[in-house]
Amino acid sequence: MTATQTLAETPAAETEHFDVLIVGAGISGIGAAYHLTHQRPGTSFVILDALDHFGGTWWTHKYPGVRSDSDLYTFGYRFKPWVGAPIATAGEILRYMDEVIEENDLAKYIRYSHKVLTAKWSTETSRWTIEANDTKAGVTRRFTANFLWMCQGYYRHEQGYTPEWPGMDQYQGQIIHPQTWPKDLDLKGKKVICIGSGATTATVVPAIAGECEHVTVLQRSPTYFIPGRNQNELADILREIDIPEEWIHEIVRRKILHDQAVFTQRSFDEPETVKNELLTGVRAYLGPDYDVDKHFTPSYRPWRQRIAFVPDGDIFRGIRAGKASVVTDEIDTFTPRGIRTKSGEELEADIIITATGFNMNALGDIAFEIDGKPLAFHDTVTYRGMMFTGIPNLLWVFGYFRASWTLRADLMADFVCRLLAHMEKKGVSKVEIVIPEADKDMKLLPWIDPENFNPGYLMRAMDILPMRGEKHEWQHTQDYWREKDEIPAIDLDGPEFQYS
Ligand SMILES: Cc1cc2nc3c(=O)[nH]c(=O)nc-3n(C[C@H](O)[C@H](O)[C@H](O)COP(=O)(O)OP(=O)(O)OC[C@H]3O[C@@H](n4cnc5c(N)ncnc54)[C@H](O)[C@@H]3O)c2cc1C
Repeated sequence: MTATQTLAETPAAETEHFDVLIVGAGISGIGAAYHLTHQRPGTSFVILDALDHFGGTWWTHKYPGVRSDSDLYTFGYRFKPWVGAPIATAGEILRYMDEVIEENDLAKYIRYSHKVLTAKWSTETSRWTIEANDTKAGVTRRFTANFLWMCQGYYRHEQGYTPEWPGMDQYQGQIIHPQTWPKDLDLKGKKVICIGSGATTATVVPAIAGECEHVTVLQRSPTYFIPGRNQNELADILREIDIPEEWIHEIVRRKILHDQAVFTQRSFDEPETVKNELLTGVRAYLGPDYDVDKHFTPSYRPWRQRIAFVPDGDIFRGIRAGKASVVTDEIDTFTPRGIRTKSGEELEADIIITATGFNMNALGDIAFEIDGKPLAFHDTVTYRGMMFTGIPNLLWVFGYFRASWTLRADLMADFVCRLLAHMEKKGVSKVEIVIPEADKDMKLLPWIDPENFNPGYLMRAMDILPMRGEKHEWQHTQDYWREKDEIPAIDLDGPEFQYS
């Protein structure tokens, strides 16, 4: 095929067929490939990724200090021990993934610079037809697959979310979103404002505070943080007594998951006590004179949004040293020299960083069709946050927000492999999720309950995400501790699964 050919001109013979097509070579997609090769050797598959490298999130984000906000014993796969400090940099996570690819010979399955544009299901052939733009060759390529394993994440990689504020066009400095950080940004001697109060702010601010003249964190409302040492004592003790890394990985994972389960439950049962504990941790770094009530005391109960771990309390140490400061106020307008807040304060800045979150997307912005009809994803109902009514032979790996994402990626992988084996045994080529008669009158609700979990990027995306049902089987419960037992025990011949 030449660089100028379009898909319409692509000979049908050039269509490649695979048993499984995986979209995305991030932590989920690489995990999917590992499990397929181990649990279903002989299955033909390919991974397509729009980027020119594996890693997804960890390749896209290049702002200073980018790191995980949860521990790598649980963010790492269950099958590959993590041997470093619990909180890891993007570079360390990429190296870990590189080892997984190398040790399991997975590189040959990945096609980079392939942006999937369309996916069309045909009941007649019981297959998906996928069109992808090969951006390096400048051509569109066509694939068919029996099963689509969606590991495309949950946000648009090419552009982050920046709200529109009045006066932005008159601001004479530079506005930067952390997701598209310029390679050679010179911060020396610059005044910087970082808008936002989440994990990105907590990461980028300590990383740049030493370099620029001053960083002001401008937040509308405070967030919870857990400061602590970037160290796992149990892992250190086990290493000292020469326990094999495989055991350490498993034992430390179990201990962390146990502690997290207790913490999550306590945040529901005794939110005030948990809140006080978290604030005491922050006060210990900021000292008795700092206004923790104003700047670090959220109005919501703990765990309604993800809580970032702050290794060695680095952002708080930057504040205490006077390199960074926090303003809790709303933006009234951008001015030529900075930002004026609603309380009338004028903040000057040469650079404004908008750590304001993601542009969430559904199914990788791919145009889906089911038997010739465009898919209205919002009209589908989710089955356990992984499959959807009216979309055959497809699973989306949507991880956890309250626990590490990869815990669910591993669980989903076991489920797909089991489902594929089940279909093979039954001699069927199509599986579709249906709401059983008994649940037909179940009330349908938006994807997530804002009383339970309500980050801005999810709230903004409610109209593009599927519906959930009242019963927990028809929800993404975000409950690892329940799903770790329930998902392996799902009866694949239950009334929710319709085969043909
Ligand atoms: C800075 C940052 C820190 C985070 N820290 C943590 C943490 O500590 N713990 C945690 O649990 N979670 C964390 N998260 C959430 C994190 O995104 C997930 O945990 C996880 O990395 C997602 O992996 P993924 O492979 O499912 O998706 P992604 O990492 O988003 O990868 C998806 C891949 O799919 C590709 N893709 C998407 N659409 C298409 C298409 N149409 N065609 C082809 N390819 C496509 C993308 O190019 C990308 O490579 C963090 C997120 C960010 C941004």
